[in-house]
Amino acid sequence: MAAQIIDGKAIAKEIRKALAEKIKVLLEQGKPRPGLAVVLVGDDPASNLYVNMKKKACKEVGIYSEEHRLPGTIRQNELLGLIDNLNSDAKIHGILVQLPLPKSLDEQEIINRIDPAKDVDGFHPINVGKLCIGEKAFIPCTPAGIMHMIDTIEYNPSGKKAVVIGRSNIVGKPMAQLLLQRNATVTLCHSKTKDLAAECRQADILVAAVGKPEMVKADWIKPGAVVIDVGINKVGTKTLGDVAFEQAKNAAGWITPVPGGVGPMTIAMLLNSTVNACESVFY
Ligand code: NAD
Repeated sequence: MAAQIIDGKAIAKEIRKALAEKIKVLLEQGKPRPGLAVVLVGDDPASNLYVNMKKKACKEVGIYSEEHRLPGTIRQNELLGLIDNLNSDAKIHGILVQLPLPKSLDEQEIINRIDPAKDVDGFHPINVGKLCIGEKAFIPCTPAGIMHMIDTIEYNPSGKKAVVIGRSNIVGKPMAQLLLQRNATVTLCHSKTKDLAAECRQADILVAAVGKPEMVKADWIKPGAVVIDVGINKVGTKTLGDVAFEQAKNAAGWITPVPGGVGPMTIAMLLNSTVNACESVFY
């Protein structure tokens, strides 16, 4: 039987609708309009596209947004100065520095400078630490969106075997933490994992966050598994995921498409975090 498709685009639309309503109510109560600052350094086309999508999404729900587009030649101190200004800017509740930064910059130092209370991406070590010890905090948007999708299909990870492929700080590691928090038994795989296919075949929940087009084949998937494809791979004019979707959908129980799966959820979670930052939910 063909898998059920998890329609991230539709779920994200519902989230945006609810957020727009919430912001309307906040404004009626005289509360401030949530504000997001997006910092883009250099001219990476993919980063440029993501920043434009974020800007459009902010406008749609009523979040104030401002962009800081900076040349790739900017110096570390100048960028730190901008972060300091945004940290003390009362109309800005969330700060997002679009990654990756050019190699000439120290990315971690920049992230560390963001006020944890404005760190809507959840990359600051304080938020990372809180996630690890199970305290409420900002969570990286992609894994947060994936958990929302798993909840939407009413799948309970408790006691299930979850396999996450990829150990990045942005997706793989926080994803593993979130699944662990929900009582899944988690295996975190990476480029040095031996017999990745055999690990994947054990998974009731399989999350692929690698960046290799259609790496995960149908015969890696346990029949009926929940398969979440995070990958965004440009191949010619096509965008492909990390999962060979056409064959995998005959093995999985649920599967996310690319595009239209995880991507829209990531942006919806960013908007949600910005509203949470404005309402001082965590800090
Ligand atoms: P990354 O490059 O930081 O990490 C990739 C991970 O994959 C690494 O941990 C590496 O160990 C692992 N890996 C590489 N080759 C492997 C192999 N052959 N077998 C097993 N593991 C292997 O990437 P990232 O930032 O985590 O992103 C992963 C993918 O997800 C990319 O395609 C990226 O574009 C996409 N992405 C999508 C969204 C979204 O919103 N949909 C958000 C973030 C990232």
